[in-house]
Amino acid sequence: MNESKDLDNIISQLKSIVGENNYIDDVLKMESYLIDWRKQYKGLSPLILKPLNTQIISEILTLCNEYNIGVVPQGGNTGLVGGSIPSESGLEVVLSLEKMNKILDIDTINFTMTLEAGCILSEVQDAALKQERLFPLSLAAEGSCQIGGNLSTNAGGTAVLNYGNAKELVLGLEVVLADGSIMSSLRRLRKDNAGYDLKQLFLGSEGTLGIITKAVIKLFPVPINKVTSIVATTNLESSIKLLAKLREQTGDTINAFEYFDRACIDALINKEGIKDIFDKKYEHYVLVELSSSQKNSDLNLLLENSIALAIEDKNVNDAIVASNETQSAQFWSLRETLPVVLKNIGKYIVFDISVPISLLPKLISESKKVCNEICKNSSSIIFGHIGDGNIHYYLIKPEDMSEANFLDMKSKIKKSVYDILEKLDGSFSAEHGIGLAKKQELRDYSSNTEIGLMRVIKKSLDPNNIMNPGKVI
Ligand SMILES: Cc1cc2nc3c(=O)[nH]c(=O)nc-3n(C[C@H](O)[C@H](O)[C@H](O)COP(=O)(O)OP(=O)(O)OC[C@H]3O[C@@H](n4cnc5c(N)ncnc54)[C@H](O)[C@@H]3O)c2cc1C
Repeated sequence: MNESKDLDNIISQLKSIVGENNYIDDVLKMESYLIDWRKQYKGLSPLILKPLNTQIISEILTLCNEYNIGVVPQGGNTGLVGGSIPSESGLEVVLSLEKMNKILDIDTINFTMTLEAGCILSEVQDAALKQERLFPLSLAAEGSCQIGGNLSTNAGGTAVLNYGNAKELVLGLEVVLADGSIMSSLRRLRKDNAGYDLKQLFLGSEGTLGIITKAVIKLFPVPINKVTSIVATTNLESSIKLLAKLREQTGDTINAFEYFDRACIDALINKEGIKDIFDKKYEHYVLVELSSSQKNSDLNLLLENSIALAIEDKNVNDAIVASNETQSAQFWSLRETLPVVLKNIGKYIVFDISVPISLLPKLISESKKVCNEICKNSSSIIFGHIGDGNIHYYLIKPEDMSEANFLDMKSKIKKSVYDILEKLDGSFSAEHGIGLAKKQELRDYSSNTEIGLMRVIKKSLDPNNIMNPGKVI
């Protein structure tokens, strides 16, 4: 009784800190904050907070730290591992960054943008483009994910090959720590070796160490030339060879190298009614994009010549090079629609995994083999950023198997695939993070020293475990 009185009291203090219209306490209006994109994780919360600035977040965390109230930071809620969803205890507050969505500065000389964490990724890209600059981070959720979420998950996406993951795009950061103190390090420096690089702690830590409130991100020249193509390769090994050849032959102008197998095309045809890409059905496809900021580079010719050589070498069966922007956008929309189509494909087990690029064929053939041994007649759908050694592997429940039987096999299947990954020096979490979904794997596949260090960091930055409790570690 006393405890609930205390909670009521804290909740009303939190409401007065954020102010009228900046919170939701009506359970009926909370749903979209309490369930994840794939609808696999559901939580409860007494209060959704929508602070307007860093100082208010500092006051919220000071109070929550004093009373041990868990705080779940939330961006666009597009995360795929349950990291932005509160527990079912109903005792954690959700802190949405959606009202902190201002772009504060675009510096075209230093090629930087300073912005608040709640800015939507596609709006960040557009704002940069208006100033003839490029912010290259790009992923299918860009219309709703936020830059704070991207940095907290160290998002990857389709432009990693050229520009790196989200971490590599950050120069400065402002973070509110669990005790309410503010680390303001919004520097625009390209070189800064003054002590430990503290911002790196918060990039990819999924809101478990502090709340990212502002950032300085890197901008780039806008590519003037771009050429996009869909290439049907003879097999996965050929796709990898094509990537290496293209890197050599095109002066490393590859912007994207995205793989999808025949099952992806079939799913797009069945669910979206798209027309098949080529007259003939092939098993392996790669979306290749070259880009350059140089005016007189003939990327079309470069790509066509490279593809012609690859056809001679029997690495490529067929290819279409986009003849205009519209066709290029159509190619990209195939890739971007895939995760949305697969969300409703039925019951599946999904892996977001990576290995050194050359080992991808081995990873896929060995994984398919063990999955079929455990789950007879299962099928798979594979796509991903193979230019980064990262695939998304969906193992689909056989039609004649009950959901319960399929779920019974889940942990055995996962362990078998993760054991293969360990042998191949790969990662069980390439780009989506740990959240709730992969906590066990983090324990199982990290060394004691690594886990020990993570615990030391967590304990020293958040001794009361209020920051996104129960996630990651
Ligand atoms: C269709 C689709 C395609 C996707 N494609 C990709 C892809 O190609 N590559 C990829 O890497 N991911 C991809 N994702 C996953 C997801 O979009 C990314 O993880 C994204 O970076 C999450 O951003 P968000 O704003 O939605 O964060 P949320 O989902 O709201 O949160 C993610 C995590 O970050 C924490 N967090 C959020 N904001 C903050 C903050 N300001 N401070 C501290 N912690 C915070 C949350 O607590 C949570 O742990 C995809 C998702 C979907 C739905």
